[in-house]
Amino acid sequence: PSRQRLLVVANRLPVSAIRRGEDSWSLEMSAGGLVSALLGVKEFEARWIGWAGVNVPDEIGQKALTRALADKRCIPVFLDEEIVHQYYNGYCNNILWPLFHYLGLPQEDRLATTRSFQSQFAAYKKANQMFADVVNEHYEEGDVVWCHDYHLMFLPKCLKDYDSKMKVGWFLHTPFPSSEIHRTLPSRSELLRAVLAADLVGFHTYDYARHFVSACTRILGLEGTPEGVEDQGRLTRVAAFPIGIDSDRFIRGLEVPRVQDHIKELKERFAGRKVMLGVDRLDMIKGIPQKLLAFEKFLEENPTWREKVVLLQIAVPTRTDVPEYQKLTSQVHEIVGRINGRFGSLIAVPIHHLDRSLDFHALCALYAVTASDISFCPLFFFVSNLSRCSIVTSLRDGMNLVSYEFVACQDAKRGVLILSEFAGAAQSLGAGAILVNPWNITEVANSIAQALNMDSEEREKRHKHNFSHVTAHTAQEWAETFVSELNDTVVAAQLRT
Ligand code: UDP
Repeated sequence: PSRQRLLVVANRLPVSAIRRGEDSWSLEMSAGGLVSALLGVKEFEARWIGWAGVNVPDEIGQKALTRALADKRCIPVFLDEEIVHQYYNGYCNNILWPLFHYLGLPQEDRLATTRSFQSQFAAYKKANQMFADVVNEHYEEGDVVWCHDYHLMFLPKCLKDYDSKMKVGWFLHTPFPSSEIHRTLPSRSELLRAVLAADLVGFHTYDYARHFVSACTRILGLEGTPEGVEDQGRLTRVAAFPIGIDSDRFIRGLEVPRVQDHIKELKERFAGRKVMLGVDRLDMIKGIPQKLLAFEKFLEENPTWREKVVLLQIAVPTRTDVPEYQKLTSQVHEIVGRINGRFGSLIAVPIHHLDRSLDFHALCALYAVTASDISFCPLFFFVSNLSRCSIVTSLRDGMNLVSYEFVACQDAKRGVLILSEFAGAAQSLGAGAILVNPWNITEVANSIAQALNMDSEEREKRHKHNFSHVTAHTAQEWAETFVSELNDTVVAAQLRT
């Protein structure tokens, strides 16, 4: 029998496209969690629908790109610059992203955003309709359509308007905030109703799912049930599906000679010192300044560690054209400079801060840098998620895959994970990690000391817990569970009517 077709709809296709000529393109697949999850799923025949990340105004270029993408099972949605500006930069990144992460906007931005809200929301709906048009063109009866993330909250409704029998699921990769936060959104009700058009709605954690159900009951006055949300006899199933990673890819990555060479280099470079690692996009939600301040406090209070520990912070640049992010970058540089000036010596500094991204192999090596020589330099890994301290609400991370990847690379089973309780991953790695409230710098500084002084028996125990979770709950299993739950939900709904 032929496999069920799965149409995966996300804002960005998993490729980067570079135009080589009037009708020629070169494409590179990017290997994110979602891609490897779906490559591993053998039961479904997956196709991708999304924006290729480039503006292609001419028909020749569009046709050529469509042809090139078809080889990769990708189908493009073409968005022009104005739509991208209003929908993507505007409504998605300036309104939904901060709101879902409990981030406030600076006062002047808040007023500007309030003024431009309606036109951005209109562009958001228009863009979602453009995605729906492309899905509809390629949809065949029996297909499963899986919509992804906050960019496409309107899509389930647009799709059901085309065909109420379409099997539609929607999954959110960020947190869903408390209903008290969602309430402040001018388009709060329209957005919730559009999502509820889906058959199945999924979140990373049970808390996010609960917040969503509360928003529907309090804002829309609908009935919440243990299964989901009910509206006049129609049920939208709501559930938690914590994502995972392709842990084998990382474990295999450690065997690659290039990675082994990297590991050797790093070990020589940092011989005699314990290594702490942070890997984050340079985003307000990641709480990098707070992490640095906690590290500073730790160095202040523990003079004997000053020469024996180093923090490697990879800060991947993101949204570099936005002033808020530029401010964050200089703030981080200032703190790093101060700490290195205070505690550095002629030959060593306590923080190595890189404003760049690393490729998969370099990242594997960093994650694993101590795996083969655990007794000298256990790797401490640190994730904290919060914003700049001017805002009163605590900040969040949908899941945080970096913490999973670190665990997968600790084949020596000893690295300690210090993890913010506000990352989704805290729900799954909580028993193995040291959980911290990243707002409390004293607590974080103490946790660093605890991690650095932890005996090998306890490190082993904690790591084992995390490692078995990360290797058992993979991205592939996540995708399979979601899609089969979606199929089951539709069958159950048919039985009810
Ligand atoms: N990553 C990368 N190169 C880097 C740093 C990070 O490829 O230099 C990848 C990392 O492997 C992970 C992803 O970026 O898969 C970050 O995902 P996460 O959920 O931790 O945070 P997000 O950036 O999605 O908020």
